[in-house]
Amino acid sequence: MVEANPIETVHRSCPICEASCGLKLEVDRNANKVLSIRGDEADPRSQGYVCPKSQAMKAIHEDPDRIRHPLRRTEDGFEEISWEEALDEVGKRLKEIRDAHGPDAIGSYIGNPTGHNFGAMLYTAFFMEALGSYRAFNGGSVDQFPKNISCSLLYGDPWLFPIPDIDRTDFLVILGANPLVSQGSLLSAPNTKARFHAHREKGGKIIVIDPRRTETAEAADAHLFIKPGSDAFLLFAFVHVLFEENLVAPGRLEEFVHGIDRVRELAEPFAPEQVAEATGISADAIRSLVRDFSTAEHAVLYGRFGTCTQEFGTLTSWLVDVVNMLTGNFDRPGGLMFARAATGQTEPVAVPNPEMAYGENRSAVRGVPVIDKQMPVAVMAEEIDSAGEDRVRGFITIAGNPILSTPNGERLGKAFEQLDFMVAIDIYLNETTRHADIILPTTTHLEHSNYDFLFSTTSVRNMARFSPQVFEADPNTRHHWQLLLEVAARMNGIPWETLDDMMLAGMLATFLGKPDTAGEELSPEQVREKISDERGPERLLDLMLRAGPHGDGFDDDAEGLSLKKLAEIPHALDLGPLEPRLPALLRTPNRCINLVSPMLAKDTERLLAARDGYGRRNELVLVGRRQLNNMNSWLHNLKPLAKGKARCTLLIHPIDAERVGLPAAGGLVCIQSRTGKLEVQAEVSDEIMPGVVSLPHGYGHGVKGTKLSVASSLQPGVNTNLLADEMLIDELSGTSVLCGIPVQVSVA
Ligand code: SF4
Repeated sequence: MVEANPIETVHRSCPICEASCGLKLEVDRNANKVLSIRGDEADPRSQGYVCPKSQAMKAIHEDPDRIRHPLRRTEDGFEEISWEEALDEVGKRLKEIRDAHGPDAIGSYIGNPTGHNFGAMLYTAFFMEALGSYRAFNGGSVDQFPKNISCSLLYGDPWLFPIPDIDRTDFLVILGANPLVSQGSLLSAPNTKARFHAHREKGGKIIVIDPRRTETAEAADAHLFIKPGSDAFLLFAFVHVLFEENLVAPGRLEEFVHGIDRVRELAEPFAPEQVAEATGISADAIRSLVRDFSTAEHAVLYGRFGTCTQEFGTLTSWLVDVVNMLTGNFDRPGGLMFARAATGQTEPVAVPNPEMAYGENRSAVRGVPVIDKQMPVAVMAEEIDSAGEDRVRGFITIAGNPILSTPNGERLGKAFEQLDFMVAIDIYLNETTRHADIILPTTTHLEHSNYDFLFSTTSVRNMARFSPQVFEADPNTRHHWQLLLEVAARMNGIPWETLDDMMLAGMLATFLGKPDTAGEELSPEQVREKISDERGPERLLDLMLRAGPHGDGFDDDAEGLSLKKLAEIPHALDLGPLEPRLPALLRTPNRCINLVSPMLAKDTERLLAARDGYGRRNELVLVGRRQLNNMNSWLHNLKPLAKGKARCTLLIHPIDAERVGLPAAGGLVCIQSRTGKLEVQAEVSDEIMPGVVSLPHGYGHGVKGTKLSVASSLQPGVNTNLLADEMLIDELSGTSVLCGIPVQVSVA
């Protein structure tokens, strides 16, 4: 319940990016207004730091374009309808499709904001299970899927991510990531700039490898340009030198890491001299990088977005971890480490997981494997428009705008128009939701509580953080969890409360009985009596905290965490530095890290076959770029973040500008790929390497039928995903190539 004080200070974490900075908000509850948002100096993680996006919660809460009633599409546009009517219609139409054509005839896309909303995330996962369709797409399968696969192969779980311990390392190599702008991805580290400054003050070194001299590269000791898509060549060369110069030193990892000799064999054909042309990095530079890395007391190689969204993304994601392991910089301070979440999802399990199922289910058109119940977004449109009788006929989007976020958005938009029925759970009438038959609006951040569930598993220090609800929910909206249960209930003809009971039973089974946690010895029946009867995510959070590694074991008098105790702490709770956790944490069938699986060995052959041709490519290729005021496509309608000069510009190197006849002052250019053609303002700059051009993503507003007045007028930009070719993928994961799309550029 929200208390009735008129103006007061509340503390929450920022739900916009993984850093989860601590915020201090002045709010007037009577007026339903946020008066100010500032950084919380007392927050042990962020210590007062915030970026401009910290203002987003207020701007979203007050946005006049936000949808506040269920909407139904008519021939004349959208009309408001009642909740009963909307939910009945959604349940009925989805049920009809499922009954007539099976569960796989319903596709879904879950957008990135879901991961920043604890309740939405838990209940979306449950809803997807209940739906039972293997056509499940999400924001993670745009840019993270190769890492999920690599983690599944190496650690037995796609969600066990090793995190770079950037605060305690001496030598940090960053590949395909720009943490000064992103504040970390699969790395939650507020105020990366201050952390890097402190690191260098202590004599630490930072090397950035990227096709663009990014903001992070500017702050680093050295920057190496690398040709987009060639990271796997570089990393195999790294491994080659480690073996050649006897620098392999895994230390205690040797006890449970198998296959080191096989890695040596695979790396044999990738000497630095043999990959220099493909990568654009000289053999000398590669060798010196390897020597510096290997001789540093604590070193860590961190790879992110760019390493996943390329032709050999899975191999690259795997090799990042292999390099850290071979040099002994894994599961020890200053290297790659695993966080320990207070909610227990990163605890050792009593029974290991079976081997990753690869290709048991495949997409209908291209036969791309479904892994961990996820399907890559590259096949989303074709599963709707080209799968014949087996096609997707109904579709659900949850807080996602895939027309701006996934490859070949134009084809996807046309495919959505062929659906029998589409529902969007969203707060905006945007480029995607305008295709929906029904839009169900949800509450926004300040109208529900939150817990940094996902980011406590990627945090650079262990932490727990609860954020209270600030305002009463708008009476015409529903929480994600409520409406997902209501839709599923209508599809199955049962009360939503029954589904919620099933959800609780599943959580009890998952989170009790973990070795060395507070819930190890407790039965579901005992715990059921100790937690609240109030439905929704908070009692599930209480269950996880109390059963978790820091929990009170459901004993009110014991020390240890419960939701009640955590809610009394206004800032993040620091639970200490990351600690070594292997081999106990491993969930592979043999409880070991098996370095080389057959699929990776086979893909190395594909890499080798590509090696010599790679360096001879002379076409221009497109990469993306992260911007401080953006979070994918979801903050563009917020005035505080949209003001300023147009940001959606193409970066082009002076040599390439001259080649296409573009003056040094820049100007309008036409950029074209196999899938699309755009006109965009170009900026000539040597921050991008020759042969590469860069466009940010998430733009392309001003489309008829949308209601995004700020985005459309202040920062419309162009949709770079019209150029992203859905046929260009990393073969192992099916992830689209977003770093290295072949394009032609001409003066418009
Ligand atoms: S860095 Fe991320 S979490 Fe911190 S204020 Fe900015 S958007 Fe919010």
